[in-house]
Amino acid sequence: MIRSASAFDTGLRACPDCDLLQRLPPVPAGAVALCARCQAPLWRHKPDSLNRTLALALAGAILWLIANTVPMLGLSVAGREAFTTVFGGVLAMWRDGRQEVAMLVLFTAVIAPALEIVCLLAVVLALRRPPAPHWVGMLLRGYELVREWSMIEIMLLGVLVALIKIAELATVIPGLALFVLGALVFLLAAMAAAFDPHDAWARIEWAEDQPPPAESNTACVPEARR
Ligand SMILES: [Zn+2]
Repeated sequence: MIRSASAFDTGLRACPDCDLLQRLPPVPAGAVALCARCQAPLWRHKPDSLNRTLALALAGAILWLIANTVPMLGLSVAGREAFTTVFGGVLAMWRDGRQEVAMLVLFTAVIAPALEIVCLLAVVLALRRPPAPHWVGMLLRGYELVREWSMIEIMLLGVLVALIKIAELATVIPGLALFVLGALVFLLAAMAAAFDPHDAWARIEWAEDQPPPAESNTACVPEARR
């Protein structure tokens, strides 16, 4: 924890608004560093980021497991009931000849959220044991990529629209997975909000600077490692 704070002392940051390159001062937890020229926020030091992200990611993993194993929807017509899970819906679409839609739903509503959670779990667990290995950087890039493809909320919207359309034809029974997926949407957002990518990147830079060569002229590195 103390190491990363010192690492930021030497970190240069470009303002996202006016592009001014500037050196970040030590920022207390919960405080925001502002651009010296345009006052745009440069970095918000999120308090206890690693522990909060880990807790939310673990909760997200549990919710993901529940959401993909229990029924999402049930239909009751003429006394007969049928339930399906998220994966069951994907299989039904595949058999119905809509393979492209089935693959898209499978990736954006099942695989991408799982990758999002797994990536962040691996990153946070690796960062908790400094020095952070180099592959954490690859995972961080992967996390940003899969986060854009994680679209559970879009699937839920589609399901709700479909429910309204078939409500006149059959009795719709909302399954547990529907509520769990709704909770997972908020949990994934909270997980992303709790995670501090700047803190994570700074810790990886520490790992790369870890073996201090004899001719090293970065005086602050050995000092901060103590
Ligand atoms: Zn600026």
